[in-house]
Amino acid sequence: MMNATRYAADDALIAQIETDLAHYQAKYPKGFLVRLHVLGDFFSVAYVAQWAKWLGMFPALHVYGYTANQPDAIDSKERAIGEAILSLRLACGIRFAVRFSGSYSDEFAALSQDDERSIALLADKKAFLCPTQISKETGKLAKKDETTLAASCGECGLCWQASKPVVFLTH
Ligand code: SF4
Repeated sequence: MMNATRYAADDALIAQIETDLAHYQAKYPKGFLVRLHVLGDFFSVAYVAQWAKWLGMFPALHVYGYTANQPDAIDSKERAIGEAILSLRLACGIRFAVRFSGSYSDEFAALSQDDERSIALLADKKAFLCPTQISKETGKLAKKDETTLAASCGECGLCWQASKPVVFLTH
């Protein structure tokens, strides 16, 4: 994270993303996965629509990430963005796997372990702990499932593929 770069959300960014996506579409025509927004979030409904357009333009493109915008938010702008994200996710499935941070109303969520509801979901096996964070805690590679080890998001992929909520340790 300390090496991450924060970009201004402007027309130049949109143009650069499109150039980059065209590059990766040509390089990996069988499929490539973009982890969106290490910093920042979806900032407008138009920006969500832009990703819908890119998913149509670039058939190899897959997206995963997280958003703080909730479809049931009180704030109208946040709610509109959250609804647009949910709509795109329902339309595209694994090609647009964006989880709602802190949501207990949508199973495709990213939760914090410092909430009793998260602990209850883990106990009922209705959620899973991020295996990379477990490995940081123990100093060992953690089990992703019964057979596979995960040392990074690239090796794990659960946030992209699993339908249950992911739970992160409290920072
Ligand atoms: S993809 Fe796996 S390692 Fe990465 S945040 Fe999600 S659960 Fe953790």
